[in-house]
Amino acid sequence: MDAIILLGAPGAGKGTVAGAVERETGYAHVSTGDLLRAALKAGTPVGLQAKAYMDAGELVPDDVILGIVRERLETAGPDGRVLFDGFPRTTVQAEQLAAVLAEQGGQVSHVFLLDVPEAVLIDRLAGRRVCRACGAVYHVRNIPPRVAGICDRCGGELFQRPDDTEETVRNRLVVYEQQTASLIEFYDARGLLVRIPAAGERSATEAAIVAQVTAG
Ligand code: AMP
Repeated sequence: MDAIILLGAPGAGKGTVAGAVERETGYAHVSTGDLLRAALKAGTPVGLQAKAYMDAGELVPDDVILGIVRERLETAGPDGRVLFDGFPRTTVQAEQLAAVLAEQGGQVSHVFLLDVPEAVLIDRLAGRRVCRACGAVYHVRNIPPRVAGICDRCGGELFQRPDDTEETVRNRLVVYEQQTASLIEFYDARGLLVRIPAAGERSATEAAIVAQVTAG
């Protein structure tokens, strides 16, 4: 099992670039946020447990997250190649991930930090729209759909995530600084961190990551 991690603040573009990286490298995109939103939609106990944290922009407890990640890794199998987006978000999660991978003789091979100034993050989150049906991500100005409010890919309805409102966005950025940013040092100390400037064109960010992954 080989894992790549996309690290960065909310709005850094992890979910947006993950699709292209998945297509071009074969690493399976695993977003813990998407897994939680699917659990919530399905009304599972995990989804119901996570809802209040997500609505407030707070982190869901580590044991809940590790449960869904373990379950997802079982589907990937021992030879799986996984691209994590939004996980790990705490040092406990990072340590547990290392332990789970080690059990299977696997490891984290790269950690890409998507580097974006805060003003750009806020603009991206406030303008973000997501397809209710397929989860495709748009931005009212930067990545507009061909027809306003409608997904180009599947014709689904675009909506604003409830946690993309300004107040929750600000809290998510504070939570990132307080609980997740320390992972930059954690992975840098292990020689795994690669900084990717990610405030510009999405295609440049994708190309930089794909080049590193394919170079090994
Ligand atoms: P995201 O789509 O990655 O922005 O995640 C949306 C929300 O889901 C976050 O604001 C958290 O409430 C929760 N969440 C997603 N991934 C994690 C994680 N690894 N640890 C804790 N909470 C998470």
